[in-house]
Amino acid sequence: MKRIAILGSTGSIGTQTLDVVRNNNGDADSCCDGADKNREIEVVALAAGHNIKALAEQIVEFSPKLVCIADEKDYSELKELTPNCKYDICFGMDGLIQIAECCEYDILVTAIVGMMGIRPTIRAIETGHDIALANKETLVTAGHIIIDLAQKHNVSILPVDSEHSAIFQCLNGENSGQVEKIILTASGGPFRGRTLEELRNVRVSDALKHPNWSMGKKITIDSATMINKGLEVMEAKWLFGVEYEQVQVVVQPQSIIHSMIQFVDGGVMAQLGRPDMRLPIQYALYYPERRPLNSERLDFAKLSHISFENPDTITFRGLALAYEVGKKGGNLPTIYNAANEIAVSRFLDEKIGFTDITDMIERALDSIEYIDNPTLEDILETERRVAEFLR
Ligand code: NDP
Repeated sequence: MKRIAILGSTGSIGTQTLDVVRNNNGDADSCCDGADKNREIEVVALAAGHNIKALAEQIVEFSPKLVCIADEKDYSELKELTPNCKYDICFGMDGLIQIAECCEYDILVTAIVGMMGIRPTIRAIETGHDIALANKETLVTAGHIIIDLAQKHNVSILPVDSEHSAIFQCLNGENSGQVEKIILTASGGPFRGRTLEELRNVRVSDALKHPNWSMGKKITIDSATMINKGLEVMEAKWLFGVEYEQVQVVVQPQSIIHSMIQFVDGGVMAQLGRPDMRLPIQYALYYPERRPLNSERLDFAKLSHISFENPDTITFRGLALAYEVGKKGGNLPTIYNAANEIAVSRFLDEKIGFTDITDMIERALDSIEYIDNPTLEDILETERRVAEFLR
């Protein structure tokens, strides 16, 4: 039996992870009376923010032993909604860390958004747990710490992001030293083909209309600015140990090819499929085994075409900026990421315009002091300085 803990269980990745659990457990009985029910996967711990109703339903269905919520004041509501369930409760960042370091699970699914994921991820690695990593902001900002630590503790970081999972799948059985380049595919988001001028007055509701994927709000806006692809370029650098020159972004609007690898002999391997995050989630949970998944299949006879184009890095400047900050390194990826988190949140609150997001990142990059080879404290301090500056 596999035992998992999920940080961010009520979100897009979290709920799809639980769907994978549900499918693998099949008819195994599940309710929160604490009895062992012959489950394939046991959900040992869940953490969520403020969606208490959804979390309560998950507790009733999956009977975790440990639960974390963002705010202690929501506990009375949670207790009321789960009267017959026995679980320990914890709160906030300390609670996320408590889940990470509890020893009763095999793999931690990091499905929370933003730099909040760094400390629990580090703690899970230090205590010897494998990571199914969705929370890309962690690797973008602290990749140099996380990868070294994972090697030291002999821990696997299994990618959940569909592009990185595709690369990981293509690398299966291959010699990673023979990779010439990684080709990350991008849908181009809802504003593909628009000019910068046309993007000045787009509304939040327009930016939230992703053409192919249904995801949390933050990553959906990141996809619209193509900053998501910039974050993924940095994520790929750390996960696969390549140079930035070896990572190419190609727009593939149908989101059928999830990414590709070109090897030193010119051969290209690609992973294809319908856009469905449950595949990469399940692959990470069961790697190296492949399990049946009741997802929609690709029908090549119906697929009229797959097209490719170069990304427009003038309109979507955030992507070009990601390469710049990634190559310079230090705390610049943290400044880029932290400024983006704040700017996206303000855009979602309708306080700034769409194109202000990249402008805010550039202003922060120009103003915050550079730190070479930042420690964890430097990274968290940089995040604080960015917040202070943008305030
Ligand atoms: P969502 O916004 O859908 O979910 C975020 C989750 O984090 C929710 O469960 C939320 O809880 C929880 N959360 C928020 N604040 C806290 C807190 N203070 N303490 C504990 N939990 C908290 O995000 P996504 O699932 O879309 O994305 C998660 C990560 O995965 C991101 O890093 C994203 O970039 C990455 N990713 C997502 C993909 C996708 O398809 N969605 C694809 C590839 C990567 P609540 O709702 O209860 O407040």
